[in-house]
Amino acid sequence: MNVILKHRMVASLKNKVPMIFAILGMVMMFLAVLYPYGMNWYGNRAADRFVALVQQDQYRQAKLWYYKTCANLPGAMGKDASRYFRQKTEAGLELWTGDYLAQQLNKDLLDSRIDVLSQIGIKPGNLTKCRNIIYAQELANHYEVTQAGNIIKATLQIYPNDPLLVAKQEEYRKQLEQMVIYRGPIQHIFFHPLIAYPELAFDQDAMSKGFNDWFVTIREFNLIIESLYKNNYILVNINDILEKRTVNGATVLALRELRLPPGKKPLILSIDDLNYYPYMIQNGTVFKLVLDKQGNIATYSVNPAQKEIIAYDNEIIPILDEFVRKHPDFSYKGAKGIIALTGYQGVLGYRTNDSNSPAYADEEKQARAVIQRLKATGWSFASHGYGHLDTPKISLERLAVDTLKWKAEVEPLVGPSEVYIYPFGSRVSPEDARFRYLQQAGFKVFCAVGSGPYIHFGPEYLLMDRRHIDGISLCTQADLLRDLFNSESIVDYSIRESTAFYSNCPP
Ligand SMILES: [Zn+2]
Repeated sequence: MNVILKHRMVASLKNKVPMIFAILGMVMMFLAVLYPYGMNWYGNRAADRFVALVQQDQYRQAKLWYYKTCANLPGAMGKDASRYFRQKTEAGLELWTGDYLAQQLNKDLLDSRIDVLSQIGIKPGNLTKCRNIIYAQELANHYEVTQAGNIIKATLQIYPNDPLLVAKQEEYRKQLEQMVIYRGPIQHIFFHPLIAYPELAFDQDAMSKGFNDWFVTIREFNLIIESLYKNNYILVNINDILEKRTVNGATVLALRELRLPPGKKPLILSIDDLNYYPYMIQNGTVFKLVLDKQGNIATYSVNPAQKEIIAYDNEIIPILDEFVRKHPDFSYKGAKGIIALTGYQGVLGYRTNDSNSPAYADEEKQARAVIQRLKATGWSFASHGYGHLDTPKISLERLAVDTLKWKAEVEPLVGPSEVYIYPFGSRVSPEDARFRYLQQAGFKVFCAVGSGPYIHFGPEYLLMDRRHIDGISLCTQADLLRDLFNSESIVDYSIRESTAFYSNCPP
């Protein structure tokens, strides 16, 4: 009996097999029909959230969400989901690039967003296009419009007839058409390190008058830069305005053609003695330039209350770095300024003058890192002599020893420079043996101090005057400075020494 029952059950199950398969098949078909709808819903939702997180600049959360919802899905499903992520980021990238071009999104944020996409390997189809547009726009912002146009032209080969690229090409073509060859004077102004702590500079000690005469305060510098920018000046690198030609075996220097939008005027800015000599530190400058965690230049100082301060708003370099970041059209090709260094007390606040000191290796290493960053961000270097000696007052032999010391100690750090910035603003004539010695030592541009823009080309050299921007000029030479800015609205009367030294300054 049991055997018969068992047999029957097996037989009936056998009869049901086709039906089970049919049901299973139907379920699978049903799922297969549903899958695209499900994936569509899921993919869109997950990708939307990812793009939203990136757009809110929550990069860590965006990455986690991507791994949770897309990267870790099995095989074909992951592949399908990543398609939605790619499509959505493509749309996002288009939008962010548009915001950047409309100056509604800064480049650093945009770069960070693109970095996230690269890090997790999402390659939206418009990545190259958007990257190239951003790169081209950065160049165009700094007046490199021809190069910007070339990048767009090359990108159009990859994305033919792309409307944004076509529009950019036309925009740069028009910009280029409007640019003119600059024929006016080339201004060169110089500063000393800024007074970061006026209470130390103007404390009525023996150095106070010197600081009142030769230095400017943070507020004055900020107002000067804003005025120069409003008055259509743009920073240029001294090396960008020079052209070297070889005539009969000799190098001849000439002015390079500078194409600028009409009205824009080139300006060279130099900073003397950015060495942070102990006397400067004691009287209110910062202590040294340092690199922050992101590799940007900051300043280090100890304030009068003995607190260590890392800052960005109390010295020319970080202030200008930030100003040019905000106003790229204040800089031609990203130029900032030229830093004139001596060597006898080290450079930039690092005591690189004493190779026997136990701290030397560390000081040198840090100085090199700072210098590398400065060079990468538009700063260049000049010799200001090794020992800050007054060239016309010293012998040829003493000048030679001084120059060789600079070449042995400072040049290995900052690299070779063709610019010589005379200490004390003095000069020697090109016929002088000391001038010829400096020429033989490799210097081609010689900067003295004068009251207006002066440039003179000789065979194989350029003489250039710089205008001193300091207490003396701000307070007593307002009319001379009128072509640059109105110094009356700049002087920090409340902070400066209230001595009767300056006849034009209020008492
Ligand atoms: Zn000097």
